Amino acid sequence: MIIEKLIDESKQGEIFNETSNNKALKKLYLESYGCAMNFSDSEIVASILQKEGFSITNNIKDTDLILINTCSIRDKAEQTVKTRLRGFRKLKKNKPNLIIGVLGCMAERLKSSLLEQEKLVDLVVGPDAYRDIPKLIQDVEGGQKSVNVLLSREETYADITPVRLTSNGVSAFISIMRGCDNMCSFCVVPFTRGRERSRNPLTIVAEAKDLFNKGYKEITLLGQNVDSYRWNISKNNKVINEDVSHINFAQLLALVAEALPELRIRFSTSHPKDMTDEVFHTMAKHDNICKYIHLPVQSGSDKMLKDMNRGYTNKWYLNRINAIHNILPGCSISTDLITGFCNETDEDHKATLDLMSKVKFDFAYMFYYSERPGTYAERKLSDNVELEIKKKRLSEVIELQHSHSLESNKKSLGNTYKVLIEKVSKKSVENLCGRNSQNSMIVFDKGNNKIGDYVDVIIEDCTSATLLGRVIKSNQ
Ligand code: SAM
Ligand code: SF4
Repeated sequence: MIIEKLIDESKQGEIFNETSNNKALKKLYLESYGCAMNFSDSEIVASILQKEGFSITNNIKDTDLILINTCSIRDKAEQTVKTRLRGFRKLKKNKPNLIIGVLGCMAERLKSSLLEQEKLVDLVVGPDAYRDIPKLIQDVEGGQKSVNVLLSREETYADITPVRLTSNGVSAFISIMRGCDNMCSFCVVPFTRGRERSRNPLTIVAEAKDLFNKGYKEITLLGQNVDSYRWNISKNNKVINEDVSHINFAQLLALVAEALPELRIRFSTSHPKDMTDEVFHTMAKHDNICKYIHLPVQSGSDKMLKDMNRGYTNKWYLNRINAIHNILPGCSISTDLITGFCNETDEDHKATLDLMSKVKFDFAYMFYYSERPGTYAERKLSDNVELEIKKKRLSEVIELQHSHSLESNKKSLGNTYKVLIEKVSKKSVENLCGRNSQNSMIVFDKGNNKIGDYVDVIIEDCTSATLLGRVIKSNQ
């Protein structure tokens, strides 16, 4: 089965669509990079600025404010954003009052380089300071450069209703928590997005209900490690206040699924060290929770996993995979893999290939290691695998994954799936596409069907990247 990426490459740099607001005094152009969490954050920023009288434009030449929501996860992501900012800077020559701002993960680390050395921007705002943007804009208008990169232990933006501007009107993201406490040694997220904190479950259910009432058919609950979601439960699993209800991730899933039985529910990302059987049983119990789990493994070598500080072993990971197969037969599984981490030997690399062959992931996001400033790996380990070797190992991992994806796809031939139609196919306006519960993207003839409908599709053909089918039951 081929599983569509949560945020695919083609979405990188996506801009918000135009909104008409006749009373708007100013225009905002907002571009987003990185993970689903960042795209979800951009919707919060748009909401905050709409309340301040901004309308959203997709015309960069006719805007008063350009904001770019950035990603720091790998060096390449940062370079893409810097190139983009240099392009924006040229626009300022003809329009001196244009304000350019950087949001998100690059804010903290690169604030001085962006504001002072390269002088690329006027405004720098970290992921927990978006409520402050209106004030920061005023400061810029008053002639100052403006920065707020303070991270918070409480901020969840729970009370802000995001504007769903990049959405297809069918599926939407809901952030259920922010930050991350895991401290994987390669990862910059705990530094850029701060401490982990969970959002009040009642506001999550309320947001899901609001989306459903507006016609949305599917939501994805988002967090860096959704399995450690907890409300009124301490880190060592004790109830904090007995007088108030408490809830873990499995219970949150059940709460949303039961409150909205007609809404499809997805979630991302799960962490192998924290993912419990309770989550799998909850998924099994509720038809509307999609049978798809993204469970990043990173490496198949215990030595690498230990140095990465992932908190599990190869054996533990395989135990989680077995539990998924036992409790949720037919559930699809995807993963993230990193090649060429510090001190990775050929043997470690082989352990990754072996693990892949044991699990046969339906899909994987695959990267070569990119050292990130400030992380444990950068401070204490040596980035000593040559780039060429990192890339060679990555291409071996990709090749193996492609063969597994094709194998998985072929198993779908002849099966019928209930598909939620999301969009017109990129290749032909005569075709529509959407996903089944297992998150495979399926392409089929348009017929009389439309975006937002459910259709039953029988799979007749596939490549390693696509399932192709025929609608056998329409408009449900
Ligand atoms: N919180 C999720 C998790 O634990 O899997 C996802 C975090 S991150 C946004 C997504 C993926 O980027 C990670 O799973 C990892 O494979 C990859 N990644 C993170 N840091 C990286 C680095 N320094 N070099 C290469 N890949 C990296
Ligand atoms: Fe990064 Fe690890 Fe947290 Fe994922 S769990 S965001 S990889 S530190």
